[in-house]
Amino acid sequence: MDMVSESNDNPARIQPVRLELDSKIKFSCHKGVRCFTQCCRGIRILLTPYDIIRMKNRLGLSSEDFLAIYTEPQLLEKTDLPVITLKLLDDDAKSCPFVREDGCLIYADRPSTCRYYPLGVASLSHKENADDEGFFILIEEPHCKGFEEDKVWTIRDWRKDQGVDVDDDINAGWTDLLVRKRSFPKNIALTEKSKQLFFMVSYNIDQFRDFVFNSSFLTRYPIDDETLEKIKTSEIELLRFGLNWLKSLLFRDSPNEG
Ligand code: SF4
Ligand code: SF4
Repeated sequence: MDMVSESNDNPARIQPVRLELDSKIKFSCHKGVRCFTQCCRGIRILLTPYDIIRMKNRLGLSSEDFLAIYTEPQLLEKTDLPVITLKLLDDDAKSCPFVREDGCLIYADRPSTCRYYPLGVASLSHKENADDEGFFILIEEPHCKGFEEDKVWTIRDWRKDQGVDVDDDINAGWTDLLVRKRSFPKNIALTEKSKQLFFMVSYNIDQFRDFVFNSSFLTRYPIDDETLEKIKTSEIELLRFGLNWLKSLLFRDSPNEG
């Protein structure tokens, strides 16, 4: 699962070490480092559902417009499920559209991959309600001088500092779907319709809201009043609900269910 940023021209050295929550890394990134913002060019950033909600709200865009302007669709080979990446500028450096000389224009709402960097999520084995938050790898790119700094972090503290613990919790249902599909036998394929539903719930929350409230959805899938109120007023609750609904819809006959 490609959850890491990758430089196209300068391959990252990925340490084949399994880092757990209590593992330590020596790293610091701040405006004073020589390489400031170099990692925001020539990269591939997979966007999670919560990334899109935050970024489109930050930019004042509908999810439809955000997808059209800032993203590129991809197919995740191992899962055969659609994912999206941030569309880079067409300049020589293939810059992220949000990078400026003094940093990230949307820093408080930057994607999960940017928050994790220089860590990558090595495994998406995280299951909802489990105490297993996967494990991590260290991506050492030659241009990154953050490793020369003295600050030492545990992975647990790094995740908290960067806010990815919250992101991962909100994205857990989506991660779970990708992992389930990956573990399916190759001869079991999802229909195009199923993939479209996965795309809509995961990445186009405005369209999903419309689908729930302006179609026969609520007649076909009755929802209790409390949940209904929550998903009317919170995009995060709507996303969580949608991912749960998808799971029961797509994998109800799954041998892995349960
Ligand atoms: S220290 Fe690493 S993460 Fe920080 S700006 Fe430089 S290249 Fe990017
Ligand atoms: S979103 Fe921000 S942190 Fe991430 S690559 Fe772009 S400028 Fe850098």
